[in-house]
Amino acid sequence: MKGPVTLYSYQARYGMRLQRLTVDGGFTCPNRDGALGTGGCTFCDNDAFHPGYTHGKSISRQLEAGVAFHGKRSRKTDGYLAYFQPFSNTYADLDTLASRYEEALSFPGVRGLVVGTRPDCIDTDKLQLLADIKSRGFIVELEYGIESVYDQTLRRVNRGHDFACTRKAFEMTAEAGLEAGGHLILGLPGETREMMVESAQVLNTLPVSFLKFHQLQILKGTPMAAEYKERPGDFLRPGPQDYIALLADILEQLRPNIAIGRIVSSVPPRFTDTPWGLLRQDGLMRELIGCLNGRNSFQGRLYSPTTATP
Ligand code: SF4
Repeated sequence: MKGPVTLYSYQARYGMRLQRLTVDGGFTCPNRDGALGTGGCTFCDNDAFHPGYTHGKSISRQLEAGVAFHGKRSRKTDGYLAYFQPFSNTYADLDTLASRYEEALSFPGVRGLVVGTRPDCIDTDKLQLLADIKSRGFIVELEYGIESVYDQTLRRVNRGHDFACTRKAFEMTAEAGLEAGGHLILGLPGETREMMVESAQVLNTLPVSFLKFHQLQILKGTPMAAEYKERPGDFLRPGPQDYIALLADILEQLRPNIAIGRIVSSVPPRFTDTPWGLLRQDGLMRELIGCLNGRNSFQGRLYSPTTATP
């Protein structure tokens, strides 16, 4: 039976059980290497999101280690997706991109790529490179960091691009015949609950196939940790139950054919002063589904096509 949330599922999308293997492709980020700035987004500490098995290894060795790591824990898979996750994985010249993607694609069992990147690190040539890979029968998904649909927030977190740039990246990706998803952070400074819920109406106008939501985690030593200490009242910090209710409000407004992937992120406790404890995606998703069922509601209940812009 179809539930109240359109869940992201490889089985539904590709007819296969696939395992994502995180790969550090050795890229950097224009918001860190000086092209745009050196400080990065104020919330960023990439070390908090690297699985230990990626450190200091070639792409093939990382995939090997990823297979060994997940092989112990996960059910049988029909193949793997190489998930280029840390930093900006389209931020290099075409030859470099091609050689790193091809190394991953040549690994036994890899069925395709998931490429995480910034919206300002994409252009038609890079999209064509990925479209060519897709035309060879591989799965290709792009995952853009949206973070917020509000320019005032993007400026405040030192993102280095505006929402118009995000919109353009999604539109170019769709024109290239590629699927794109995005991720958002709920709780960035200056955003009210109403703003977060209204974000859904803006997201509905993007050609976006899937979304991931993350509660804001304030990581030790980041500029955001200092900002939070100074102005805690600028941050909405819902606990898990309020976060579920917020997500339910957002999903009610969201286009029903946008698949929902992760709704929580957990970094190891040593990285943050404000942990929620060990929250698991499955448990939180069950609670979100229960919350919507309790309201006799579902994703898209309040959706109507709109041309809203932030
Ligand atoms: S774009 Fe990504 S990697 Fe670069 S500073 Fe921001 S969060 Fe960090």
